[in-house]
Amino acid sequence: MLEQPYEYSARELVEPDWRRLPGFADVSGNEWRSAQWQRAHCVKNLRQLRGVYGDLLDESFYADVEADQAGRATMSLLLPPQMLNTLVPGAVPSSAAMLADPVRRYMLPAASDRLAGAAASHPYAGRDSLHEHEMWAVEGLTHRYPTKVLAELLSTCPQYCGHCTRMDLVGNSTPAVPKLKFELKPVDRQAAMLDYLRATPGVRDVVVSGGDVANLPFTNLETFLARLLEIESVRDIRLASKALMGLPQHWLQPEIIEGMTRLATTARARGVSLAVHTHVNAAQSVTPLVAEAAQAMLAAGMRDVRNQGVLLKGVNATATQLLDLCFALQDGASITPYYFYMCDMIPSAEHWRVSLAQAQTLQHDIMGYLPGFATPRIVCDVPYVGKRWVHQVAEYDRERGISFWTKNYRTGIEAGDEAALARRYTYYDPIATLPESGQAWWRERDLDPVAAELHAARSRAASVADLVG
Ligand code: SF4
Repeated sequence: MLEQPYEYSARELVEPDWRRLPGFADVSGNEWRSAQWQRAHCVKNLRQLRGVYGDLLDESFYADVEADQAGRATMSLLLPPQMLNTLVPGAVPSSAAMLADPVRRYMLPAASDRLAGAAASHPYAGRDSLHEHEMWAVEGLTHRYPTKVLAELLSTCPQYCGHCTRMDLVGNSTPAVPKLKFELKPVDRQAAMLDYLRATPGVRDVVVSGGDVANLPFTNLETFLARLLEIESVRDIRLASKALMGLPQHWLQPEIIEGMTRLATTARARGVSLAVHTHVNAAQSVTPLVAEAAQAMLAAGMRDVRNQGVLLKGVNATATQLLDLCFALQDGASITPYYFYMCDMIPSAEHWRVSLAQAQTLQHDIMGYLPGFATPRIVCDVPYVGKRWVHQVAEYDRERGISFWTKNYRTGIEAGDEAALARRYTYYDPIATLPESGQAWWRERDLDPVAAELHAARSRAASVADLVG
C-alpha cells in the first residue's frame, strides 16, 4: 500500500473499565447496563465529581472546573457515568490527562480552557445565535427552511455539552446564563405544533429534538410521534438523541426497543423514513455499548442512525481525529457520519471555534477515505440562513474573518422582505485565528455589548464594503 496522509486501520471498539475510577470501583456489570443506575449516578456538581475521581485528580483540577461553573459556563454539569468513563479511556486518569482529554474539553469545561478576558467571546456572539426563537411558528417549532421544521419538545438532556447551541433554553441556569423557559405546558405546545403541521402541508420533514428526546417519558414521545405519523404530508422524521452515545443504556431498555419497533413498523407501513440522529464528537466515545444501542435501533426498524457532530478545537479539529471518529461510527457502530457543524457563535466559545478556512481545509482533507454516503459534510449554520456547506461561501474576507453567505428561500419572518434573497448574511471567524492586521481591526472597533446586540439583531449585511465602511 502507498503511504497516505491518513493511515486507515480497522479498530475494535473498547468499553473502558469503569472500575479504574474510585467512585465506580464496586459497580457491577448489571448496574452499569441499567439506565436507572446511570441516571441516578450522574455527576451534576463538584461534590459528585470528587466522589468519582477522589484523590486521582488534584485540587487545582477541581478548582478549575468550579471556577468555570461559577464564571463563564453556559451549561451546568451533567455527565452520566457512561460518558465519564470515556474520558482518558485507556488509563487511570490524572489531572494532566484529564485537562488534555478531548471529551473532557467539551463535556467538563474548565476555566483554564477559555480564552482570557474579552477574547473569550466574539463581539457578535449571542444567546440563541441562530435566532431560532424568532422563527418559531408556534412555541418550540422553528420553521427555518421551506420544507423542514425543528420541533423542540423539551429543554433537558441526560447530559449537558459545554458548547450547546441552544444554551439559551436548554438545561439549568448557570451564574452566566439564566435560562429561558417555555411558557406553554408540554401537552399544549405539542398540540400547537401538530396543528401547525396539519395546516402546513408544505412541511415534509420534522426533526424531533429538544433537548434530547431520551428525556421525554417514552409514552409521551410515542404519542407525539404516532400523531405526527398520521399527518399525510410528513415524510421524514428524525429523532435527535445524543443519549444514544452518552446514555446508550436508555435506548437498550426492552420497553424502549419495543416502542421504537412499534413506531418503525407504522412508519414503514406509511412510507415514512424514521431515523435517529445522534451527536458524537470523538472516536473514544464510540464504545461497544454505543454500537449495541445503535444496532438495536436499526434492528427495531429505524431507516438509519446518523451522526451530527460539532467541529471543536481540541476535540476533533484535525483530519485524523475526524476520520478516526467517522470510521469508529461507520465500521464499529453502524452509525452513518452525516454532518459536522462549525461551532455556533455563542458566548465564551472562542476557544472551541475554528475559522471557516480551517473548516474548508478539513473538508478537503477528509475526502476520499469514506464511502461517499458516509463522508460527512462540514457545514456552517449561518444565522438567518441555515446550514451551508463550508465551500458555498459567497465572499470571504480572511483578514477580518468575515464570511458572506446567500440564501435561496424565505422563512416566515421574511415573507414581506423583498431583499431577502439578494442580501448577504454574515458569519465570523474567531478573532484569535486572524492575522495581526485583522485582530487590530477588531480592536480598533472596540465593540461594546450594546452595539454587538444591535448587530446581532440585524446581522445581515449587503457586502464587505457595507460592513467595513
Ligand atoms: S445533547 Fe444537544 S441539546 Fe443537549 S446539551 Fe448537548 S448539544 Fe445541547
